[in-house]
Amino acid sequence: MGIQLGDVKTGAGRPFHSAELMLTRVVSVLLTLCFGAVFGAFADVSQVRVVGDGAPTRITIWTDAAEEAEAFVSNTAGVRRIIFPLRSNGYSAEGLGNGGVSVWSLNPGRLEFELDRPMSVARVLRLPPTGTETAYRVIIDLETVSDARFTSVARRDQRRLAKAEDAAAKAVEKDAVLLAGVTTGRKPAPRRTGTGHVVVIDAGHGGRDPGAIAITGGQEKDVTLKAALALRDLLEADGRYVVKLTRDTDVFVDHEDRVTKARNWNAELFISLHADAAGASSVSGASVYTISARGEGRIDREASRNNWIIPIEDGTPERLTGILADLVKRETKTRSAEFAELLLPELERAGPVLRNTHRNAGFYVLLAPDVPAVLLELGFLTNAADAKRLQSEKGLDASTRAIKKAIDTYFDRQELRVASQ
Ligand SMILES: [Zn+2]
Repeated sequence: MGIQLGDVKTGAGRPFHSAELMLTRVVSVLLTLCFGAVFGAFADVSQVRVVGDGAPTRITIWTDAAEEAEAFVSNTAGVRRIIFPLRSNGYSAEGLGNGGVSVWSLNPGRLEFELDRPMSVARVLRLPPTGTETAYRVIIDLETVSDARFTSVARRDQRRLAKAEDAAAKAVEKDAVLLAGVTTGRKPAPRRTGTGHVVVIDAGHGGRDPGAIAITGGQEKDVTLKAALALRDLLEADGRYVVKLTRDTDVFVDHEDRVTKARNWNAELFISLHADAAGASSVSGASVYTISARGEGRIDREASRNNWIIPIEDGTPERLTGILADLVKRETKTRSAEFAELLLPELERAGPVLRNTHRNAGFYVLLAPDVPAVLLELGFLTNAADAKRLQSEKGLDASTRAIKKAIDTYFDRQELRVASQ
């Protein structure tokens, strides 16, 4: 479940402020102010920090503009390095590293981190300024790897780095032309993020369990499967997520298996898709459920019955494991509610929602002690308008897009939280 930062040591953060540097920065800030909107990637570094112990080691780079570069592994002349190409630094600086990074140095065109062990880039995260943090930040997480792995990544990255630096040089030339008075704008490169968040989509019912029957004809199990497949395609197209489905065909899956699968995949978010039925055909709208207080009482029992053990670090004193497990459960509940609250306004924009629509229930699929989970009723199949909406491509598309937006916002927040720890 994401990155463990518990054992990361604090390290050498060092802002640098020489007079010469300040002057360069003033000029570059002025350039950014005048032309930043056009040029996009004028990023000057104001601070570099390296913390961690190799599992992972986290590099944070503060810049005054968005920086789109990737980090590359290099092994030229037998020196192991991580190289981060930068567009417009006219000054130099250096500092000591931590956790596998011995020293770092900033030179025009690139930021380099010398390594004392084989490491590779686990992920790169780019953060915009937030309320308290006015700079842009690039976060590079490094992991210790085998020599063989390092060598093969370095070989691959050699070509990629040359290509990136070539493209950057061309872009600088282009900017120079623009500075000389040409006014055509340049679109910023699409934002790329690191490896994926694991999202598990659970299509309700299936096989011999049809779920609710639609007033228009058709069954809930087909509606949920279609929605799950559409949502998967939408998320996978983004590149930011690793998407898993508890079923992708018309088969019966036990409740226990759905939860066990999600836990085995290290799900960061579990979304169970359903469509409701009501006695009155006038009842319509989507609704979201998270675990109820009553359901919570079942978590421990089901967890021990199914061997859903919350991973607690080896060697943790016995008296603390219970407290840690409780913290994980509470955190999971908070996250589930947070996602539900993000989902509602998006669903409201996409179609009708039920009044008091964030509800609590003891649904079995919500019982994992350590996977944030919601159960989403997409609408009522007993209501003609809802049934039509959910059985039409357009209606389903609106719903899945709404869910995707909520997922995006949810993980944006998670990333900010991890980064500011
Ligand atoms: Zn259902």
